[in-house]
Amino acid sequence: MPKHLVFVGGGHAHLTALMNLRDTVRAGHRATLIGPSPYHYYSGMGPGLLSGIYRPAEARFHVKKMAQDRGATFIEDRVVLVDPVRRALVLGSGVEVRYDAVSFNTGSEVPLDLLHPSGDDVFPVKPIENLLAARRRIREADAGKRFRVIVVGGGSAAVEIAANLGHLGMETGRIEGITLVSRSTVLGDFPEEARAQARGALARWGVETIEGVAAESIADRRVRLENGADLEGDMVFVATGIRPSPLFRKSGLPTGADGGLLVNEYLQCIGPPELFGGGDCVSLAGSPLARVGVYAVRQNRPLHRNLSAFLEGRPLQRFDPGGDFLLILNLGDRKGLFRRKEIVWSGRLAFRLKEYLDRRFMRKFQVSGELRESREE
Ligand SMILES: Cc1cc2nc3c(=O)[nH]c(=O)nc-3n(C[C@H](O)[C@H](O)[C@H](O)COP(=O)(O)OP(=O)(O)OC[C@H]3O[C@@H](n4cnc5c(N)ncnc54)[C@H](O)[C@@H]3O)c2cc1C
Repeated sequence: MPKHLVFVGGGHAHLTALMNLRDTVRAGHRATLIGPSPYHYYSGMGPGLLSGIYRPAEARFHVKKMAQDRGATFIEDRVVLVDPVRRALVLGSGVEVRYDAVSFNTGSEVPLDLLHPSGDDVFPVKPIENLLAARRRIREADAGKRFRVIVVGGGSAAVEIAANLGHLGMETGRIEGITLVSRSTVLGDFPEEARAQARGALARWGVETIEGVAAESIADRRVRLENGADLEGDMVFVATGIRPSPLFRKSGLPTGADGGLLVNEYLQCIGPPELFGGGDCVSLAGSPLARVGVYAVRQNRPLHRNLSAFLEGRPLQRFDPGGDFLLILNLGDRKGLFRRKEIVWSGRLAFRLKEYLDRRFMRKFQVSGELRESREE
């Protein structure tokens, strides 16, 4: 029987299913993609968008076109509530979309409730579009304006953002100081060698690094630290970690400890069986995964297979999270910091490897003329 399959969020984990929508539609089903933008930005290239190493067109997928070209409907909106009893999604506009099956890939956000920031000078590092807005702010400011920038956070995103701000400052001459403030040691869960290399890279960019002090609040261009000190900045980037979108808790669906939709090894909700999901917005029951894009990418095929199987009434297949993964941080100067388990090295070759892997991923799913687009943001 024909069914209506709805994709909520055109994120990294949905790309294979979106690429194969033609088969879904040919089998007689209806498909809809709902997302707040026609584009989805690849987070791995986000810091490079800030520094200008990449143009926006190089780092995004035109998910609207991808879906429409394959016979699906695209709705530019956000899902704000799921009503599993009526099998309905409520959108920001108030419109309701009924479904037979849904797959969620709504990602994650930077939790801001502890810092309760105010003002339009605060840039959480997700969504990635914020990094483009920050770049524009710096480049388009009045001639002579120079920015003091503060990065709050000490994980890999914070290091990449600070380093790429260094690059942007070199290119524009408009950044007069960058301070990174981290509650714990920078790259606390990396081997010591990686920390040393990251600190070296930040120092080369002139980044002042304050470790072991938490930021308490952000207001009026001031970051208040727990030791009572104030840091003044024209712009504040917040990279204090991520948590899944709050949609599932709000909808009363089963969630993991941090609010991700609780799914089983088939990426299927442990509650209503017609709900699936992948990427940062889900929590795998029994073995929660790190919230890194690597898993969203690995979930592509199993999610696609299981959505098709669910529509056709076939048995589902297990998702195997796989073993260790490598991370390569963009250090802003076309150098990368490579880490796989305890193996750490940095330099141009590491960045070249990152570029190769990132561009290979982009090529696979940039099937909608993205690179020919002249529109930039
Ligand atoms: C600066 C930075 C650099 C990173 N670099 C790396 C890296 O190099 N390697 C790595 O493995 N990980 C990296 N990460 C981690 C990475 O962000 C996430 O793990 C990855 O983005 C998860 O992909 P996703 O598709 O689940 O979510 P997202 O990328 O967040 O995508 C979610 C999509 O859903 C849409 N959406 C959101 N809410 C709704 C809604 N309510 N309704 C409809 N649509 C919605 C969004 O518009 C978006 O398109 C980085 C993160 C940051 C912040």
